[in-house]
Amino acid sequence: MSIVDRIKGKMTTAGRSYKSKYPGRVSSNHGGSMSGYKYIMFHHTASTSYSGAINHMCNPKSDVSAHFVIGKEGECTEIVPMTLQAWHAGKGEYKGVPANKGNAYCIGIEVVNLGDGKDKFTTAQLKKIDEVIKYIDSFVGEKLPIIDHKAYAGNRKVDMRANFPLDNYKKYRSYKAPSSSSSSKPSTSTSNTSSSSKYTLTRILKVGSTGVAVEKLQKAIGVSVDGKFGAKTEAKVKVFQKSKGLTADGIVGEDTAKALGWSFKKKSSSKFTLTRLLVVGSRGDDVKKLQKAVGTSADGIFGEATERAVKVFQRKHGLTADGKVGKDTAKALGWLYKG
Ligand SMILES: [Zn+2]
Repeated sequence: MSIVDRIKGKMTTAGRSYKSKYPGRVSSNHGGSMSGYKYIMFHHTASTSYSGAINHMCNPKSDVSAHFVIGKEGECTEIVPMTLQAWHAGKGEYKGVPANKGNAYCIGIEVVNLGDGKDKFTTAQLKKIDEVIKYIDSFVGEKLPIIDHKAYAGNRKVDMRANFPLDNYKKYRSYKAPSSSSSSKPSTSTSNTSSSSKYTLTRILKVGSTGVAVEKLQKAIGVSVDGKFGAKTEAKVKVFQKSKGLTADGIVGEDTAKALGWSFKKKSSSKFTLTRLLVVGSRGDDVKKLQKAVGTSADGIFGEATERAVKVFQRKHGLTADGKVGKDTAKALGWLYKG
């Protein structure tokens, strides 16, 4: 009997709860827990029927499965939970994955398609794939590189064929480029060079600010350059803002930066600081934050599901998988730690 059971979207894996966004049939064709998460691997089913593909992958005799099956009308089922090894990779080898261990390290997506290089992938299907990739990203907690079966299995396999937008998925995690502007507009070399040399301001400048960015500002507005944003700089910024029809507040944010011909990209605001060790039983907003980061439901209570997700995260980052969130794990999460 399968150790996976699903009731109304809830799967129980080895007695632990796992809620899928794409509930439905569950396959018993799977191994134990994933050893880590290295790649998202695409396959085609070499068939045309979504239900047929699921039937096949849920048949214990077939010995094959995947984590996700995506149909031509945009249907999707997670037939093996991402916590467990699905049987899709087989023999092969790829950077960072030990030989023949693809199932232990790759999330498998089976896309319903004949795989003859002619059968078209539908827009509904491709859009669903985009959505599933986001779902995987949030579960894993990072954007795993995307490969196809052939990259791992070599000449043994043909999936994916060239009519699948694999390159776009690798680059953009989507079937299409994020903005059509660069590809559809004829590019002029001059505009390219000027945009690439554009200065990018990464913080707001105001009275009291110092540093290279302030020097750059002072040069731009014609104030003697000392790298210190004082009253003179402020006055000149106001003049500049007025001349551009902006609110003359003397603060250089996005609008003023743009008017200066700069880009503005604020660095992700101050890092979160964890102030205690989080373990099973911990409760609070920091637990919620942790749960969001590791992709479990954010109820603010550190239970078994959270512990499991933390261990997966720790393993993936080469940390001791003790399920406790202290200094090292906080660091790996991009947090500060002052416990
Ligand atoms: Zn395949």
